[in-house]
Amino acid sequence: MKHYDAVVIGGGPAGVTAALYLARAGVSLAWIEKLAPGGQVLNTEVIDNYPGFPQGIKGYELADLFAAHLEGYEMDRLHDEVFEVKPEPGNHQIKVGESWIAARTIVVCSGAKWRKLGIEGEERLAGKGISYCALCDGNFFRGQDVACIGGGNTALEESLYLAKIVNKIYLVHRRECFRGDRIYQDKVLAHPKIELVMNSVPRSFEGDDGLTGLVIEDVHTKKSRTLPVSGAFIFIGLEPATGFLPSMLKRDEGGFLVTDMSMATSVPGIFAAGDICAKTCRQVATAVGDGATAAHSASLYLEKLNG
Ligand SMILES: Cc1cc2nc3c(=O)[nH]c(=O)nc-3n(C[C@H](O)[C@H](O)[C@H](O)COP(=O)(O)OP(=O)(O)OC[C@H]3O[C@@H](n4cnc5c(N)ncnc54)[C@H](O)[C@@H]3O)c2cc1C
Repeated sequence: MKHYDAVVIGGGPAGVTAALYLARAGVSLAWIEKLAPGGQVLNTEVIDNYPGFPQGIKGYELADLFAAHLEGYEMDRLHDEVFEVKPEPGNHQIKVGESWIAARTIVVCSGAKWRKLGIEGEERLAGKGISYCALCDGNFFRGQDVACIGGGNTALEESLYLAKIVNKIYLVHRRECFRGDRIYQDKVLAHPKIELVMNSVPRSFEGDDGLTGLVIEDVHTKKSRTLPVSGAFIFIGLEPATGFLPSMLKRDEGGFLVTDMSMATSVPGIFAAGDICAKTCRQVATAVGDGATAAHSASLYLEKLNG
């Protein structure tokens, strides 16, 4: 079994940053990514809120730049999936593909995925009117009419954020009442730009090159109608990629890893960074920041182990 000082799991913004900082710290390192470097950035048409790119940058271009930044640094690049982690202080075991490797410290940067509705038009119009992130894409819909879908805190909070930017929001929820906190419900109910569309489920998205409407169905009457929107924000949950991690790592109620300010998890020697962590702002900028902090903390941890 090959032993490393550090292993970074994930090649999104958090993982690339953690690998960069650990490589520069001179530790023996394995960097594992099951797909291609870039993570969710590869699914993003244009990123226009990452500093340094005032004109915005295409997702795949930023992903290429991230990968290019790691070129020339010494590390084992493992293009495979991590299936299991067995924690053992100072000698954690990691199953990568069919093989096991060991590491004194691990930085978990395996990210998360937005839940999809799975209805007609969603795949086709993703990035062309359909979004899962108000902070990322809200600005593209300035002054326009949009739909928000969901009934939890995220849907309510993000609708309130979007209401500062767009002309009108149809907030579509399948139930009679929202699940989100009362404080957000009150603000949403009182907001002049937000029209509530309760007891309604989205059935399909309309449009060829861009979204033109959202077809919804009333759950009681079964009648359909089309909301004339050029944007739709889907807020029905985010799933962290934690399936390969042991249950002893502390999670929040959404399944995200709980860390302290140094990005340490509840298991000594295991750090986490990026969207997989319990936090309120999931963005490229915050993932990069987490990655740097986690790698620095992992380096300090290794120094302590060395005495
Ligand atoms: C459509 C869309 C648009 C967005 N727009 C913006 C924007 O405009 N601005 C912005 O700041 N943010 C945006 N975001 C959010 C941003 O992309 C994420 O916050 C950021 O990518 C999180 O980085 P991460 O490294 O934590 O995780 P991720 O980017 O999710 O990367 C995780 C990586 O880990 C790998 N991985 C997972 N499990 C395993 C495993 N078991 N073994 C090996 N590898 C594994 C995955 O393949 C993936 O490459 C957008 C996201 C989406 C989906």
